[in-house]
Amino acid sequence: MSTLFEKIIAREIPSDVVFEDDQCIVINDINPVAPIHVLIIPKKPIVKLADAEAGDQALLGHLMLVAGEVARQLGVAEGFRLIVNNGEGGGQTIFHLHLHLLAGRDFTEAQL
Ligand code: 5GP
Repeated sequence: MSTLFEKIIAREIPSDVVFEDDQCIVINDINPVAPIHVLIIPKKPIVKLADAEAGDQALLGHLMLVAGEVARQLGVAEGFRLIVNNGEGGGQTIFHLHLHLLAGRDFTEAQL
């Protein structure tokens, strides 16, 4: 059974797309916890970060580079936070790897 993010990638479910290339899609989170809250999602359906393999190294690096690129595009390259929730115990609710990019509020006093 495909996850919500696979359906979003396939355009079976609408989303607000911020960036897309051959390897990933970046969408606005439907329930943002910061003024800017986007999800960087690989098109390859890796269940969670701990399931990534050596062959995914370039893809994982690409997601980080896209985070920086999207942050520049959104004007927040000087202040953003990246989060990966891994597994139920890590707060993951959609089991298709994704990075949360949060920005637009002060994170200097916030807890991790
Ligand atoms: P997780 O808890 O798995 O790390 O993050 C899943 C994220 O997906 C949550 O921040 C949640 O708000 C977001 N989300 C859940 N359903 C949808 C949806 O239908 N569309 C979008 N754009 N985001 C969603």
